[in-house]
Amino acid sequence: YHDRDGYIWMDGEFVPWREANIHVLTHGLHYASSVFEGERAYGGKIFESRRHSQRLHRSGEILDFKVPGTVDELEDVKKEALAKSGLENAYVRAFSWRGSEMMGVSAQNNTIHLAVAVWAWGDYFADKMKGIALTHAKWRRPDPKTAPCEAKAAGLYMICTLSKHAAEREGFADALMLDWRGHVAEATGANIFFLRDGALHTPTPDCFLNGITRQTAIKLAEARNIEIVERTILPEELPTFSECFITGSAAEITPVRSIGEVEYKPGAVTEALVTDYSDLVNGRVKHPVA
Ligand code: PMP
Repeated sequence: YHDRDGYIWMDGEFVPWREANIHVLTHGLHYASSVFEGERAYGGKIFESRRHSQRLHRSGEILDFKVPGTVDELEDVKKEALAKSGLENAYVRAFSWRGSEMMGVSAQNNTIHLAVAVWAWGDYFADKMKGIALTHAKWRRPDPKTAPCEAKAAGLYMICTLSKHAAEREGFADALMLDWRGHVAEATGANIFFLRDGALHTPTPDCFLNGITRQTAIKLAEARNIEIVERTILPEELPTFSECFITGSAAEITPVRSIGEVEYKPGAVTEALVTDYSDLVNGRVKHPVA
């Protein structure tokens, strides 16, 4: 990603893409004192931009630092960065991290940095609409007493990358992660939903991100009078569902065709929500939350 034309907004100015560098003794790199957002723009407008900016600020607070500037300023920067990219449909990555003044577990006085990069990113999964195959991850989402699960923090992605790599090595697109109790949690970068007898079931987000796309999918389902059941889901239940999909800003709504040995068909409800989501993000219908 580093060797290309373009600009990245970094600490107050646009820097040529290849020169947007940081020092190797950056605290965020050594100790994962770093938070980020993944957002998508459609037709020149970032979907749910403000909620992403607010979450970035909140993630920083949870990691005991203040993301530079205000949410409003971040909104302006993201708009400028999108405009400068010349892209209408794009992925937007806003991120903030502790700098390099002090090296050690303690880094109380390190400068906090902020950057925004924008690039073209097509579907998160190849052949997305055919439905993706998931395997089971060996790593579990940590107990909220063990890690600050509400933050979109770099450190929480260590087990996601490990799980995703292991899945890809075996030919799967992604992995289903359980939580520390053994309950169904989410994929490595997206929340999960299941259909049974016309109702959508989704795990209670008590130790992983309550994704912005997840919340949107719930609103879209409610608008279609589909019952939503947010609850504890056990892995033994996986064969009792008929459809399954995952949700995330990058993944959007992606049908799942299997988890391990269990197969699903990307059916009518999943397809309807994929269409609704596409209509919504592309401004063809009004937001059900608004
Ligand atoms: N869980 C994880 C681990 C994620 O990385 C993401 C993507 N940010 C999500 C869930 C979904 O969050 P959102 O819909 O806000 O993108």
